[in-house]
Amino acid sequence: MTSSVLLYSGVRIMEENKIKVLIVEDEAKLARFVELELKHEGYDVVIAENGRAAIEKFYESSPDIMLLDLMLPELNGMEVCRRIRKESDIPIIMITAKGETMDKIAGLDSGADDYITKPFVIEELLARIRAAMRRSTMDKPSAESDILTLKNLTVDISRRTVKLDDNEIELTKREFDLLAYLIKNKNIVITREQILNRVWGYDYFGETNIVDVYIRYLRTKIDDKYGVKFIHTIRGVGYFAKDEEQDN
Ligand code: CA
Repeated sequence: MTSSVLLYSGVRIMEENKIKVLIVEDEAKLARFVELELKHEGYDVVIAENGRAAIEKFYESSPDIMLLDLMLPELNGMEVCRRIRKESDIPIIMITAKGETMDKIAGLDSGADDYITKPFVIEELLARIRAAMRRSTMDKPSAESDILTLKNLTVDISRRTVKLDDNEIELTKREFDLLAYLIKNKNIVITREQILNRVWGYDYFGETNIVDVYIRYLRTKIDDKYGVKFIHTIRGVGYFAKDEEQDN
């Protein structure tokens, strides 16, 4: 009994739907200051102290937005920006020091969405983050490839909606990400570890049975409610979403 209570309080923490900001800044004090301000505003924060770490943290933690200092050890901000842009269209706000403003054009050319000059007031940074996030959610094109299907289940990645025939199914962010990941890899068995890495991120150190808990949530909301069976268990291995009609 006690363990399930603990589990549930843990689950509640996992369900928080926070925007994750990757701060790339080699001035530790400034990075710490921005981190505290952002956390106070309810953001999740990851810090990278140089250009190479920025690339690594980007892959590890899949942030929603990036604050990128221009002058960095290892790789400079422009180079980091170019590399990230090959992989992702997350909003990138370039941070330049006073006197580096001539780099504005180059920064935008390398794929940054916006830039802010140091020293800045935190309110301005927060406003730019909000604006960049608004633009990025509005810009998302709802291309055909953004629609995933599994039998009569339709998952719209850009709108983040799930429908079974015409019934809309309400999912939390994590449930949605888990379902989308399973369906993207439908008919392939996915291990718990793979799910943890992709859906929760490499920095997740909590309960490993969190995956089973969320699978159960999905089954409650979809399989049980509509009398279908989408998510199959391979004991001791993991899970898979089965497309074709079969037994069990
Ligand atoms: Ca710097």
